[in-house]
Amino acid sequence: MEKKCEICGQTKPQSEFSKAYKCRCKSCVAEAARNERMRYKKLEKECMQALQPQQQFAQTTYTPNPRYVIATAAMQGLLSNPAINGERLTIREIDNLAQVATRCADSLMKKLENDFHHD
Ligand SMILES: [Zn+2]
Repeated sequence: MEKKCEICGQTKPQSEFSKAYKCRCKSCVAEAARNERMRYKKLEKECMQALQPQQQFAQTTYTPNPRYVIATAAMQGLLSNPAINGERLTIREIDNLAQVATRCADSLMKKLENDFHHD
């Protein structure tokens, strides 16, 4: 006895029909299951991506120059000193502070490199 599948419209023998979905042929049921699995996998991937921490691209695209990092920290230290009063500095005074900060960075890096090589 032949039946018509409600999904693909093809007429097939009874043995080609699903037991769970009596009006659908086995290949249509298998295809629907495959699509459902793919849809679920895609959804799962999107959820995992959404849960990833956003900070990671800073590490992969930008490797900070240690000299700049140390000089910046030194400059921040100098500017946060209440005796220096960062808001009222002239350009010349800022240049002088930048020179001091850079000198600090170079001295610190030299010291750290020496310590590293003599360990
Ligand atoms: Zn079918």
